[in-house]
Amino acid sequence: MTNSETITDSVLDIEKIRRDFPILKTKVYGKPLIYLDNAATTQKPQPVLESLHNYYTHYNSNVHRGVHFLSQQATEAYEVARRKIAGYINARHEHEIIFTKGTTNGINLVAASFGKKFLKAGDEVLISAMEHHSNIVPWQLICEEKGATLKVIPIDEAGELKMDGFDELLTDKVKIVAVTYVSNSLGTVNPVHEIIQKAHAVNVPVLIDAAQAIQHMPIDIQQLDADFLAFSGHKIYGPTGVGILYGKEKWLNEMPPYEGGGDMIKNVTFAKTTYNELPFKFEAGTPDISGGIALGAAIDYVQHVGISAIQQAEEEVVAYAYDRLSAIPSLRFIGDAKHRSGAISFLVGNIHPFDLGEILDKQSIAVRTGHHCTQPVMDFFQIPGTVRASFAFYNTKAEVDALVDGIEKAKRMLE
Ligand code: PMP
Repeated sequence: MTNSETITDSVLDIEKIRRDFPILKTKVYGKPLIYLDNAATTQKPQPVLESLHNYYTHYNSNVHRGVHFLSQQATEAYEVARRKIAGYINARHEHEIIFTKGTTNGINLVAASFGKKFLKAGDEVLISAMEHHSNIVPWQLICEEKGATLKVIPIDEAGELKMDGFDELLTDKVKIVAVTYVSNSLGTVNPVHEIIQKAHAVNVPVLIDAAQAIQHMPIDIQQLDADFLAFSGHKIYGPTGVGILYGKEKWLNEMPPYEGGGDMIKNVTFAKTTYNELPFKFEAGTPDISGGIALGAAIDYVQHVGISAIQQAEEEVVAYAYDRLSAIPSLRFIGDAKHRSGAISFLVGNIHPFDLGEILDKQSIAVRTGHHCTQPVMDFFQIPGTVRASFAFYNTKAEVDALVDGIEKAKRMLE
């Protein structure tokens, strides 16, 4: 199973693609929506909307427990979606794909369950200085419980990881490394292959937060060799409320269940409960069935367009945005990594990011302002927050031009 594609090397017909996303026709304050908040969540193509509608209209039923027709249909569709996701990241086994609520839920699962089994007082967990709060706080919680210590790979002024710092911190006390593939606030693409190789050389497993990577670049999990990989459905054109945790079979088999309830058990008595096999051991309770199935539809859509074509189209629009923004006097980028993807963060003069965001909003341009759930990154750069424009393959150069005009207008009003 691989990332099979129908278009691999051509630049996409963006206008045609935009017609697949009904929300892109929306008007905001009477003007066409310019949606540059894709790192927060992506918009949904028609097949994803149809999948949700179809499920509730034609075969809404609970999965895994029923013998009746609809239940079997729902179960089959849900498991087909799991298979598609396994195929998309080239997982060796379908049962290494755990449905979660999203990236946050997946990381919490690993921190709690891996931590419960493998962490003890004096151990260390190694994360990086550019993590989203959801890849910081779950580790703080388990470290506190176990008397372990959280260590942090430093970053530099360009917003890149200091890899010599990583080498120094990777001691025999470290029991797991958890880093983001792509920074949501800086756009930095981290050298995750190198991190994984180095950690594995000293038998330390690695969790990759792929929340900002899965929608932008091909990921072959066997080639990457990450032990865990978490992402959210809603950032790859699927619905909110569903996500994926990939885990290597050998770890998932050794880890205790995260939550107890229906579906995750084999047999329950008051004296003793035995747990279900993978992946169900980690899927307690009724899941987001329609969400899982619609995530499968989103993966189909991405594969139909082709993730390499998506990557190429996005690189073009991001490079164009970077060029045009660079020409604005008094605009400074926060994060200037050589290898970047998706998001561009910046500040303009001494305009507060929130004020700039509001003025852009009035011009129907949706950007995000604030700390982007990465407060330590803001502390590092000693700023209250940034303005972040984040791109998807349906964004156009004309939209970038509108962003630049919008910033110029804000400058005239506020500077
Ligand atoms: N990690 C990163 C890098 C993110 O960008 C996000 C979402 N902004 C998350 C984790 C959390 O994702 P979710 O809220 O979908 O669980």
